Formats: sequence, structure tokens, C-alpha cells
Amino acid sequence: MLDSRPEYPPPDLLHQLRHRFGFESFRHGQREVMEAVLARRDVLAVMPTGQGKSLCFQLPATLTSGLTVVISPLIALMKDQVDALRTRGITASAYHSGQSQQERDRVLQDMRLGKLRLLYLAPERMQHDWFIRQVRLVGPSLLVVDEAHCISHWGHDFRPDYLRLGELRRQLDSPPCLALTATATARVQQDIHDKLEFRKPLTVITGFRRPNLRFAVEICSGKTEKLRILESLLKETPTGSKIVYCSTRRHVEELAQSLGKRHSGVGYYHAGLADDLRVSIHERFVNDDIRILVATNAFGMGIDKPDVRLVVHHDVPGSLEAYYQEAGRAGRDGGHAQCVLLFQQSDVATQEFFIQKLGEGVSPSGTAVSERQDASRELLRRMVSYAYSQTCRQLTFLNYFGDVEETTLGPCGHCDLCSSPPVVTEADHELLHQARTVLATVERFQGRFGATRVTDVLYGSTGKAVLDLRLHTAESFGRLRAIGRTGIARLIRRLASSGHIVFDGLEFPVVTLSAKGMAVLKGTDPLVWEQADGNGGEDKLPKATEKPSRSAPLHDGHPDRDLFDRLRALRARMASEEGVAPFMVFHDKTLRNIANRRPSSISSLEEVPGIGPAKLERYGRQVLQVVNEEEGRAS
Ligand code: ADP
Ligand code: ZN
Repeated sequence: MLDSRPEYPPPDLLHQLRHRFGFESFRHGQREVMEAVLARRDVLAVMPTGQGKSLCFQLPATLTSGLTVVISPLIALMKDQVDALRTRGITASAYHSGQSQQERDRVLQDMRLGKLRLLYLAPERMQHDWFIRQVRLVGPSLLVVDEAHCISHWGHDFRPDYLRLGELRRQLDSPPCLALTATATARVQQDIHDKLEFRKPLTVITGFRRPNLRFAVEICSGKTEKLRILESLLKETPTGSKIVYCSTRRHVEELAQSLGKRHSGVGYYHAGLADDLRVSIHERFVNDDIRILVATNAFGMGIDKPDVRLVVHHDVPGSLEAYYQEAGRAGRDGGHAQCVLLFQQSDVATQEFFIQKLGEGVSPSGTAVSERQDASRELLRRMVSYAYSQTCRQLTFLNYFGDVEETTLGPCGHCDLCSSPPVVTEADHELLHQARTVLATVERFQGRFGATRVTDVLYGSTGKAVLDLRLHTAESFGRLRAIGRTGIARLIRRLASSGHIVFDGLEFPVVTLSAKGMAVLKGTDPLVWEQADGNGGEDKLPKATEKPSRSAPLHDGHPDRDLFDRLRALRARMASEEGVAPFMVFHDKTLRNIANRRPSSISSLEEVPGIGPAKLERYGRQVLQVVNEEEGRAS
């Protein structure tokens, strides 16, 4: 049976928070976690870095009689926490290999005498049976596992040492356990529950929204384009520090050299530099001597610089959790900051290379390497789909981390997709016919071929590959010859960016049909997709630097802000009634045009750019009602 009695009469947590820690109020989730910990429940808390996870056990540790054992992977971080606790008059110590024998004896003695509230240990300590027996004798009242995602090979930072923590817990007579992490997908959460042998745990996931960050993705065609965008982002960001992440040391050095020619205060950082050099670079960054730092992911742990205004990922990282953590180093002070991913499909190969390398060298204990590779590929696949996503970036993260409460509060309103959603239209008869031919072909091939083969078939190519595979016998062979190979390729890209077909696989992606594509093929849904450029050019997303931001002044004259807001409210209502994204009802620009022109009749509404006959019929009346209501109000 679960013992849910608190050790004391319910303690006044708020009083302790103010009195002992000097904080005015709890942050989101903290109180819930603390109450469960004090009720001796097993708890998994998933909260982003900087949210205040440590307090979730530090404060309860001051309210219970027993010892709180904290497993933490980094000695430097342990030391910081111990020092901070001591300044608050809370007795805490760390025990690790970096200490002298004398220091360690002292810690053990304090522990045996019951003087310690908290004891910090590295996971390697589990290997020392004698030591574990000493801790057991004290009978710890709480086991805390920090960075708990390290226990799962589905996480992005698996550490074999962590696998022994379940056993440690048993050796300590199974005290209640609090697992903490900043990143855990549903799968990782399950692993944490299983491996730490949780009993009826409480899972608290909170605080993932970062309202002051503006996320954006730029789909790039090569290095030159990346550099151009990076330069304009740097220009747009005159104040604060900037971090540019690259995936390899070589990229870091090359890029730093290139930026150094045009900017002052450029530095670089990666794990290949000597220790003292890394320390000095870190210091120069903190002291604003280096304003633009180019780095690999080795730069990050424990960095808490408040005024990072821009984090650019020059290369795609291996997972969304790595991305969110690195990008999340921006705007710690709560001020506005930008996080931009420069995405090039071919960069994915570098990450795939890292995944293949997992197969070399030592095998992590008890876990098949190939399983780890599969897990890493899945993480990478999610990262890539973020780049091509069509929904609010912030919502993607909230969904990914399972922060339900924040997800229900809706889109962020200022990421690239919120501030400039793709303009969508319904395909006309001719295009619909062509698109369905593509979808039918993709469906028939059942994910066996990539875009090139599909194009070959639709064009009616009689190249060797086509003949060898006997694709010239396919039903749709040559059906779209009239629009040329470029036309077919463009159709495929459009269908991919609207999510009707998906690219699957990293190195040699094949095309498959999504459920959305199937619905169009069956004729149950209309084909609604991103509007192509007027000039019939590439269906590429416009550059961030060209995009209007939501805070930018309204275009096209001076439309009435109030009317614009009312129209947006109407749009939100209609979108939620139909279960579609607001931009699928009307693009912001269309609403601005309406607010600007104030059409009073169906025929004048019809003349507003962006309103086709279908929309006019579906939404026209309600739009006019809002405009007229507004007119009545103004007069
Ligand atoms: P995490 O472990 O989640 O990265 P920390 O525990 O290191 O975060 O806390 C980040 C900062 O927030 C610390 O400086 C901590 O003192 C502070 N903090 C934690 N909880 C509160 C609170 N309720 N009110 C104000 N500051 C807090
Ligand atoms: Zn958004």
C-alpha cells in the first residue's frame, strides 16, 4: 500500500519558500511536485531548464527528518548547488572522486551523525557497494534522480551508469523517488517509470512555453544562402549575445573564421579545444568580450547568460529535445529573442553519420546498439519533420514534451508560421486532377520509390531504371507529360509541404501517402494546399527576413485595428468550428485587406484579394456582418 501520510502536519510550504529561500511565490508545478514528494509518492517532474526543478526537492528536504540522496551527473553543478544550499544554512554535501580522502571521510561522518539534509552523488558511485551500504544504514527518506532522461536510450543523452539506479533504489530499501528532467517524450517517461520501478507515480509536466522566444525555420539550399540569412539575422540583432550552433568542429572553425572577417567579438568553442582555452572562452562570453560565439553542442551545460538575443542552428541537431534545449538558451532574462534553424535536407546526412558511429566502439551495457540507433533515427525524424511543419513552432514543442496545460492555451502568435502562415487555396479543377494522378501513383507504389522515380513514371521516361523496374507498365505512365518534369516535381513538392504526401527515410527518402492525401484521393476531402507563387516559381517558403512580423505595422494603408481584431476573432471562431487552423480560413493579409476596404456588400467583398468564390460562399455573410456591425458602431 502506498503510504500517503505526510510526516508532519501539512507544512506551510509557502512560508518555508519565503522564509528559507527568499522567493515570493511558487513557479508552475513546483508546489504540486513538493506536495507529492512530502506525501511520499514517486514523482516524475518534467520541466524546462531554469524553471526551478532543484527547489522541488531542496525545499521538502528541509521539511523532512531523513536524508535526501541526489544523483546528479555533473560534479560542477553539484558543487554549485551545495554551495548555494550552505549559504541558506542548509547542510548539504557532495561525495565524489574529485575530493581528497579527508574531505570524503568528513562527509561520511556528517552523514552518519545525521547532520546532512542532502547528499549529492554521481551515478558512477553506484559501483561502490561498500559506500552504498553506508548510505543505506542512514535510511534515506528520498532518492532524487536529476537528468533522469539519461536512463533511457530513447532519450538524447543515454548513460549506461543510469541503468543501475533501479538497483540502487532497491539497495537503499526503496525510498520514494523523485525523477527530474528537462526533456522526456512519452517513451522516455515510460522508461523512467519502469527502470526506477515507480509505484503509482505522479507525473508533472509543465512550463515548456517560452513566450518571449520567436522560433523560425529557414529552408536553405546551400551554404551561401545560410550565410546570407545568418548575416541578416546578426544585423537585425544589434544587442546582446548570439550563439551559432554547428554540428561539427570543422564547421565551427570555418564559420567563425568567415564571420570574423566582418564582425568583431567572434569566438568559437568545441570539445577539441584545450581545457583552459575553453574556460577562458566561456569567461569571455559571459563578460561580453565575445558577442558572437560559434560552437558545437559541447557549449551549453550550465550556461546561464541572461541576454542571449539570438540562437541560430546552422546545421540541424539530432533531436527536438537537443534543439529546444540549445535554442532555449536565448532570452533567459525574459526579453525578446530569436531562435532560427537553417535547415538543409542534405545536413541530415551528418546526423545519420553520427548515428552510424554509435555502432562503432564500445557497446553500452545491456542495450543492443541497433536499438539505440533506431531510437536515434526516430528522434532525428521528428526533428526533420519540425523543419517542414505547418503548425505553430511553439505548439510543436509543447506537444512533443506533453505539456498539455500550455498546449490548450493555443499558438504563440509570433513564430514564423503564426506570423506569416502559408497562404492556402483550394486547388482548381485542372490542378486537382493532376494532383490526384500524383497521389494515385504514390499510393500504388506503396513507399517503394523516391520522388525521382515517381516523376519518371508520370512523365513517361523510358530510361534504363524505369525499364529495369518495369515501371513503364504502370497505369499512370506518361499521364502528366504535358506539364514537364519540372511541373511534376513542383506538384510533388507542393503536396509534400501541404502534408498530403510524406518523405520517409533519411538517406534515400521514399514518398508515401498520408491520411490527408488518402482523403483527397478518395474524394472525401477537397485539396487545400499552399498557394503557389504567382510567377510559377519554386514553392519555397519565403525568407524570414522578408516576412512581416505580427508586431509589424499593418500594410496596405491604415486598416482599422479594432475591426481587424474583430475579424480575427471571427476567424478564430470559424476555424475552431471547422476544426482547421485559422490561416486556412483567411490569411492575416486578407483580413487586413478587408479591414482596409470595409466592403459593405457581397460584390465588394468579392473584390478583396484573397477571397475566392468558395470562401465568399462559406464565410462571406458572417464577415459582412462583422464589418457592418463595426460601421454601425463607428457612426
Ligand atoms: P532547473 O534545475 O530547472 O534548471 P534551477 O533549479 O537551477 O532550475 O533554478 C533556476 C533558477 O530559478 C535558480 O536561480 C533558482 O533559485 C530560481 N528559482 C527556483 N524556484 C523559484 C521560485 N519559486 N521563485 C523564484 N526563483 C526561483
Ligand atoms: Zn507560433
